[in-house]
Amino acid sequence: MNQVKNIAIDGPAGAGKSTIARMVSQRLGFLYVDTGALYRSIGVCALRNGVKTDDANGVEALLPRVKVELKFVDGVQHVFLNGDDVSEEIRKPEASMAASNVSAIPAVRAFLFDLQREMAAQNNVVMDGRDIGTVVLPDADLKIFLTASPEERARRRFNEMKDKGMDVEFAPLLEEIKQRDYNDSHRAIAPLKQAQDAVLVDTTENTLEESIARVEALARERLGL
Ligand code: C5P
Repeated sequence: MNQVKNIAIDGPAGAGKSTIARMVSQRLGFLYVDTGALYRSIGVCALRNGVKTDDANGVEALLPRVKVELKFVDGVQHVFLNGDDVSEEIRKPEASMAASNVSAIPAVRAFLFDLQREMAAQNNVVMDGRDIGTVVLPDADLKIFLTASPEERARRRFNEMKDKGMDVEFAPLLEEIKQRDYNDSHRAIAPLKQAQDAVLVDTTENTLEESIARVEALARERLGL
């Protein structure tokens, strides 16, 4: 049997998970799997179909007709919803809340669980999300819980959006981060929490490069790379 290696990175919105996971996966030659993108595409699917994202029955009824795929084009992950590239659409602010809402629906989590497990069984992956170390990959070779203070996370998001020329205000961004933290950690199913055997990495005081280097070092040490 080929021995694949799995790294799980969990943490709240805006902690830098996706950037850090992407950079570390590149450096290790692993596949990066952004599971938030999967939940976002189900959220977008509901919005497109005029189904309220907190309507569990309505969203569940859509699932048999939904195909979500992650494809890698020149090393960049693209997300396809029934063959349609939704990589940009899933980054819009309304898609964030939609994702948070649909992610509380058990049928949605079950639907995406198999997809995530399959990718991790076949590839060396760095997978990021909320419940990767606790639920999806409980036997991951390395688990990291990546966090930063809500204010710092909102500040990073704010700067990112400003850099893209978007017209944003800080206060609503901070509010949204706090609301999503609350939703994600209080839902009944697969709530956001640190796995017992996860290494806590708090990036509040660190530059992005320092955080990447720390996670890479942990991975090399633990996986013997
Ligand atoms: O990580 P990202 O901000 O893209 O995730 C969007 C939303 O998807 C999160 O707020 C969370 O509610 C949900 N999610 C989840 N489980 C994961 C990944 C994301 O519930 N593994």
